[in-house]
Amino acid sequence: MSIKLLPLEISARIAAGEVIERPVSVVKELIENSLDANATKIKITLGNGGMDFIEISDDGIGIPSDEVKLVFDRFATSKIEHINDLDNISSLGFRGEAVFSIAAISRVELISKTKESDIGTKIVVQDGEFLSQSPVAANTGTIFKVIGLFHNFPARRKFLRSPLSESRRILSLIKKYSMIRPDVSFEYHQLNSKSFVTSGSGDIRDVMREIYGRDISNDMLKIDPLESDELYPRTYVEGIISNPTQNKSNRAHINLFVNGRLIQNKTLSYSFEQSYHGFIAEKKFPFGVLNISIPFDEVDVNVHPTKTEVLFHKENLIFSLIQKTIRNLLLNKMPVLDVTFNDKNIPIGSNEASSENIYSMNRNFSENPSFDLTDRIGSSGIDDSYTPKNVLPLLRVIGQISNTYIICEGPESLYVIDQHAAHERVIFENVIDRHEKNDPNIQTLLEPILVDLDDIQMEIVEKSEKIFDILGMDIKPFGDNTYIIRSIPHVLSTQNPIQAFKNMISVLEEGKHFETWEEKAAYSIACHGAIRAGKHLSLLEMETLIKQLENCRQPSNCPHGRPTLFSIDNANLAKRFRRT
Ligand code: ADP
Ligand code: MG
Repeated sequence: MSIKLLPLEISARIAAGEVIERPVSVVKELIENSLDANATKIKITLGNGGMDFIEISDDGIGIPSDEVKLVFDRFATSKIEHINDLDNISSLGFRGEAVFSIAAISRVELISKTKESDIGTKIVVQDGEFLSQSPVAANTGTIFKVIGLFHNFPARRKFLRSPLSESRRILSLIKKYSMIRPDVSFEYHQLNSKSFVTSGSGDIRDVMREIYGRDISNDMLKIDPLESDELYPRTYVEGIISNPTQNKSNRAHINLFVNGRLIQNKTLSYSFEQSYHGFIAEKKFPFGVLNISIPFDEVDVNVHPTKTEVLFHKENLIFSLIQKTIRNLLLNKMPVLDVTFNDKNIPIGSNEASSENIYSMNRNFSENPSFDLTDRIGSSGIDDSYTPKNVLPLLRVIGQISNTYIICEGPESLYVIDQHAAHERVIFENVIDRHEKNDPNIQTLLEPILVDLDDIQMEIVEKSEKIFDILGMDIKPFGDNTYIIRSIPHVLSTQNPIQAFKNMISVLEEGKHFETWEEKAAYSIACHGAIRAGKHLSLLEMETLIKQLENCRQPSNCPHGRPTLFSIDNANLAKRFRRT
């Protein structure tokens, strides 16, 4: 093929493909345009998750009627003029390609009016083609209506999720913008969905109250920026963050901004998380909003068309400024208690040690009781041998130690069995067995229960449909961020169903690899369904458990790969304890 310039139709589609990935991208670009136009009120209305239409109206400065048509040209912008402006971008937009891209793949109806003008202008553009322009009565500000997004772009349409899932992304984005701009009132509506409205009072706590509720909002910590010093000239960290007793099970609620621009940056996100080190339990995450206020020429926002990736001239300095600011705040507000742990006051691997208690740091202990036991046997001089067997011989239960291990006598060895891991294994096998027989063991709840989930949890649930199917669980989406549960696996029936469901999600979130869906499903309930270490068991309970374990196909390892049992063979025992 010879070289030729692509026709506009194709180049527009290529540009659109970069900027507009899904409906939420349209919302992002248009909200940013409204903010750049100094809007104090932004209203977003969706039809069918944004797939049918997205309407965004603002009370910003509007577009003069003789410029309205220009907005649809590629690289048409009012925000920069000179090449040097690129080094000093204070507006959210500057590339002049968002409206152009959106109009290439939808029908756009735009109405706008400036304060100076008495009458507004309406313009309609479809698939990049200008259709009409006419005067209309309008308020000062701008209304964009984007209809039938991707209707001429089937390749992209195919990648869209359900309308519910698309509108969830959009709502989550609107919440982020409302956090960084508490001075702007945001309004979100969609038929049959809960609306979201912020007052625009300027108080970040008011916004947090809408998102997380009054109690959480009141207890969050507002960051007072540190005095700027030579090390970080004119650079500040501002925002509002969780206190150490508040936390989330994933990173979904960490919102980072640079000069009011929403960004994604793993390094800085990690810096934020790390600031809580020692304040919150492992695998728990802080949440909140951080805005890094930095001279415009110290950050390059012109990295990617979506503008969420930015380059800092001195990223490591910002990394340490975040830590310094947040640790300073946490230390002031939350003096760390001086707590020491030993195995006397916290039972090995007990619920307490792994609970959400912020001061429980007894990690090695709670996570790996088995290894700890080896240590102790080792240090007492016994030549212990960890001998996983594929088949367990018949065992006689002798008793329980530390409310954690079951001691059994076998034909050739003494067995020390981790009760939690053993029960986990039993549940695991049971689920797979039941599934093979097409007979899941479920408990129907007397009354269905509603569970609110965050965005990451929602995604996991969506991806794990098959798992819930295998387990016979009846869970269905019920509104934007809510699921309704009608039944749960029997082994979880003694637990609070909401917590049980959330625990399953967090186990699935670990993303542990299993060969089959059945194994994944079994794993998701085994750990939290199993009896905990620290629980006293009666002889009968122990015997029942051991009998079930003997029937397992591979009794030696729990799904976590933790050894279920140790055996010390009789010859060894005799050697150690022989009379001298
Ligand atoms: P950019 O934001 O990068 O300049 P866009 O394609 O998003 O490019 O928008 C093009 C131009 O249209 C903007 O520079 C601005 O002048 C005008 N514009 C778009 N949306 C609005 C709005 N809501 N209010 C006022 N002007 C707007
Ligand atoms: Mg823009």
